[in-house]
Amino acid sequence: MSRSLLSVDDLGAAGIQSIMRLSDSFAEVSSRSIPRVPALRGKTIAALFYEDSTRTRLSFEAAAKRLSADVMSFAVKSSSMSKGESLRDTVQTLGAMGADAFVVRHASAGAARLVSRWTDAAVVNAGDGWHEHPTQALADCYTLHRRFGGAAFTMAGLHAVIVGDVKHSRVARSNVKAFTALGARVTLVGPATLMPPCLDGWPVSVEVDLDRVLPDADIVYLLRLQSERTDESLLPSQREYTARWGLTRRRAALLPGRATVMHPGPMNRGVEIDPEVADREFCVVGDQVRNGVPVRMAVLFWLLGSGLPTGESSGQVLAVDGGDAHQPDSIGASDEEVR
Ligand code: ASP
Repeated sequence: MSRSLLSVDDLGAAGIQSIMRLSDSFAEVSSRSIPRVPALRGKTIAALFYEDSTRTRLSFEAAAKRLSADVMSFAVKSSSMSKGESLRDTVQTLGAMGADAFVVRHASAGAARLVSRWTDAAVVNAGDGWHEHPTQALADCYTLHRRFGGAAFTMAGLHAVIVGDVKHSRVARSNVKAFTALGARVTLVGPATLMPPCLDGWPVSVEVDLDRVLPDADIVYLLRLQSERTDESLLPSQREYTARWGLTRRRAALLPGRATVMHPGPMNRGVEIDPEVADREFCVVGDQVRNGVPVRMAVLFWLLGSGLPTGESSGQVLAVDGGDAHQPDSIGASDEEVR
């Protein structure tokens, strides 16, 4: 049975930190003139995207190609899914063609977990309904690590404010887990109608008034309004949302100088964030996308790389102290060798 990444819970703090270390190595690979290593040569990665995606799908494809893996990309609209083939049959078909890993995006929470029951291949959850999006959270943690510096990969002492449609956001769920695992304090801000009905067990505070928390925020994480996930009217109007919870120019002025603004994309400029504020230096949306590639290389290498020791827990497999096995030399050859 292969290892899978279905939730941030599969990693825990030590696992996240190990992926961060590995991402550093792959960021170095990505900066080479030929950003490719033979680490996963001979492996086949099947991308099953049942929901629209730009960043995540292309980022996984770029990551797989930089590791020299073969990619089977599956466009639902031009596949037999449109003839009614089930997810299970599709997985088994691609498994029979030799897929070593499935990268799965689906509108239903739990879809990636189901896929992991139907195959012996590794499975990565690339977003399942409202549930989780673990590689987005890893890309975000890595972006913060690069911005705030330090070798320790910790967020202790940082205050992250997550704003908006928490209820429908898989990014919020994964980021609450990842940020708090790394030691950050998290406050959720937004209209009561866009908060999950039950927050028992979430290690967060909740606030309605964004102005009150901004002066004390190190990270402001803006979420997109997920209109595709709701048919009820949860807001009086988009204009009112922007007036109360948008990062307007006036609100941006409340932020301390050290603050970083993040958004998982796609951004609705003028709704969650003022268009001009979105282009300021403290808004690291471009870095989140850029860092997504080495982070996904790290995840795929962790799942499929032959150079890693085997084991059930990623905390053991990628133990911080055992990081030497994952230095660039063990990942693959230099540019010269792959030409
Ligand atoms: N791209 C992210 C996701 O797939 C965020 C969003 O769509 O709002 O969940």
